[in-house]
Amino acid sequence: MQCNDAKCPFHGHLKVRGNIFSGTVKSAKAPKTVSVERTFVIYVPKYERYKKTKSRISAHNPDCIAAKEGDIVQVGETRKLSKTKSFVVLKIEKKSGTRQAAAEEKEIEHEKEIVAEETHEKKEHEGHVHEEGKKHAEKKHAEKAPKKKGKK
Ligand SMILES: [Zn+2]
Repeated sequence: MQCNDAKCPFHGHLKVRGNIFSGTVKSAKAPKTVSVERTFVIYVPKYERYKKTKSRISAHNPDCIAAKEGDIVQVGETRKLSKTKSFVVLKIEKKSGTRQAAAEEKEIEHEKEIVAEETHEKKEHEGHVHEEGKKHAEKKHAEKAPKKKGKK
């Protein structure tokens, strides 16, 4: 996908140099900007132990990448792009699980709806037959009755 963003490292004129790291997108609310959080471990000399820390940086999110909340992305250091941004999203390493799960759930629900509609139509059709040919319908009914019991 092509984009017209001048601050895109692939389609614009932006040079990536310096630090490159990956983190999780915690916020993608601002336009073309994401807040990326990374966790790392630092040594605390006083206690001679390690401590888990996290920090957030805001990074430029070009249209051709369009990272969403929960995605794991790779960001690279660039020149100062705005007051708070000096990083740019290079790629999405892993899309958020919730996005995929939500899409799958929708598909399943859609399938269920189709099945429900089909069974409903069948029932209506049977009812129609009952009214038209009584003798034929009675036979059908007699045949069907034990089957229904069997199902239960
Ligand atoms: Zn681009």
